[in-house]
Amino acid sequence: MINFQSYNILGIRVDAVDMETALAQMEEFIKSRKPHLVVTADASGVVMAQTDPELHRIMNSADLVTPDSTGILWAAKQLGYSLPQRVSGVDIVDLLCGRAAAGGYSVFLLGSAPGVADAAAGELKRRYPGLNIAGCHHGYFKSEESNSIAQMVRDAKPDILFVAFGIPRQEKWITRYKREMNVPVSIGVGGTFDVISGNVKRAPVWMQRRGLEWLHRLIMNPRKYKKCLTLPVFMAMVKKAKRRMQG
Ligand code: UDP
Repeated sequence: MINFQSYNILGIRVDAVDMETALAQMEEFIKSRKPHLVVTADASGVVMAQTDPELHRIMNSADLVTPDSTGILWAAKQLGYSLPQRVSGVDIVDLLCGRAAAGGYSVFLLGSAPGVADAAAGELKRRYPGLNIAGCHHGYFKSEESNSIAQMVRDAKPDILFVAFGIPRQEKWITRYKREMNVPVSIGVGGTFDVISGNVKRAPVWMQRRGLEWLHRLIMNPRKYKKCLTLPVFMAMVKKAKRRMQG
């Protein structure tokens, strides 16, 4: 295990890793051959974990928890910690696939609407021609089918599994089937395949820099307003935690 600090943000452990360290840690997990769970923590996940004990437990026992959003970086700063940079799901998938192509690791893409994981795999292979895709499957299956999907992943023997069902389902599903699947690195990646496949456009860089990715998402998909509403809730909770620390 690489040595890095971890911070407590509203009861959730977030690891103070930059992208380089996160990738190096995941390569170590691959070499260990034992199953590991990587969580990318954003504000909505941390808010959700306050009222979802199972998610709370899963996040705190994950093998690596990266700071996924600007909300998390902001919170860390408020609480007197310093997190080096965002380590988001979209960037992890992209850069880890680069490492996988160079290192000969295979990847499995599970989740999103039918066709999206395949399109994302096609795009990743275009970016990294040597990339070995162990398999793809959409995320709209019945819960009775979970066992056979987990078996399919196991048989494909990937080194890395990306699961895109959205928080908290993806983290719970990975935890439930982690042992059976026996994949060294499993990561919940939310809407990442939609972005990589070009299905959903990522916010322009100027918006990303100003921490406005959530606003772009809201404009593109107004049904996401509920998730955006968690941001002010998160900020209020952090301010309260800060006051408690100071008082
Ligand atoms: N999804 C899925 N199965 C479902 C519901 C959702 O595979 O039963 C996919 C959905 O198509 C999308 C992803 O899960 O690609 C969730 O993306 P979202 O951006 O909502 O996730 P977040 O990053 O907000 O957790």
